[in-house]
Amino acid sequence: MGIGECAIISLKTLNSLFEDRSVGAVLVFENVRCVVCGEPVSVKIQKTSGGYGFLNGIILEPSGSLYLAKCVNCNGSREATGT
Ligand SMILES: [Zn+2]
Repeated sequence: MGIGECAIISLKTLNSLFEDRSVGAVLVFENVRCVVCGEPVSVKIQKTSGGYGFLNGIILEPSGSLYLAKCVNCNGSREATGT
């Protein structure tokens, strides 16, 4: 499945997403498929003073327009913070 090739979404990508969409402080990805277990997960990314905080899982760096996630169960931690 090439899971090892998937990197967490980069700060650069996050910055452009937040700029493009005028989403305010929270960006929500609804029903993104977890690359490990295949379950749909809704991940929230919250802008913080030091970077970004992920809720419910993490979003991986997109290839093209396709977004993939890792849910909390597969990511192995409840929270990851982009720095
Ligand atoms: Zn999963």
